[in-house]
Amino acid sequence: MSRAKLHNPGRPVSLRFGALEIEAFSISGLASYVAVPAFDACFDLGHCSVASSQLRNVLLTHVHQDHSLGVIRHLALRRMMGHRPPRVYLPMESRAALLDVLRAYERMEEKEPADLESIVHGVVAGETFALSQNRKVRVFDVVHRITSRGYTVIEDSRKLKAIYRDLPGEAIRDARERGEEIHDHREINRLTYVGDSTIETLENHPEIGESEILFLEATHLPGTSPEVSAKYGHTHLDELAALFARRPEALASPHIVLKHFSMKYDASQIRAALETLPAGLRERVTLLI
Ligand SMILES: [Zn+2]
Ligand SMILES: [Zn+2]
Repeated sequence: MSRAKLHNPGRPVSLRFGALEIEAFSISGLASYVAVPAFDACFDLGHCSVASSQLRNVLLTHVHQDHSLGVIRHLALRRMMGHRPPRVYLPMESRAALLDVLRAYERMEEKEPADLESIVHGVVAGETFALSQNRKVRVFDVVHRITSRGYTVIEDSRKLKAIYRDLPGEAIRDARERGEEIHDHREINRLTYVGDSTIETLENHPEIGESEILFLEATHLPGTSPEVSAKYGHTHLDELAALFARRPEALASPHIVLKHFSMKYDASQIRAALETLPAGLRERVTLLI
């Protein structure tokens, strides 16, 4: 793969885990976005394609430009195409500044002010918000150079209780109308998205490893000093290998997607680095390139 192709945010990578389809791109300093149409959501939005503009919910981890610049286009494209206003979530600490930026664009473009207050939502660690009827998002703190939050999508999976299973449809309907709980509910951590982060986030939140799909950054690879990662608030691939030896539960997800590789690496260097991960972890890793 040429670097021109590797470094083109207009060419997302298609991923599929079970029935879940994802279109994503992530190169450090350039752009990151992970679009999940089934969730009607995009995690980070450093670049906004037409496809991403059709997703209503935008969950920003932090406001570094490579993660947030697409929000301006997202708002404009949705307005232009007559879609409902989006919902943009981001760390509470960054909300007022993003509103200032969006207002500045309205002024520069001589547009009527939109109701941005109801579009842009600040989030704090520990809170949960609804994504759809059967999905909610839990917010947690992420360690990076600036304020950052991570997101876990929790699905309510329901199954008809055994005692109702052999009953005719009418009897089940009557039971529901009587107010009986006819389903067994189970919560599934379907996907966790961590944006830019040091390894500390996984140390602080090993429960992240319970998610079926886990997006993590690995900006730097063997050959680059881990001090560089520490200086800029990123994760080095060697740190993930060391964490797996120490706390395997933090990396227990069946599907781990590594992303946000530095622009200094080409595709063959990134693929070669995967081989340095220990067996037991390596097989579950997908590289977002
Ligand atoms: Zn970044
Ligand atoms: Zn960043």
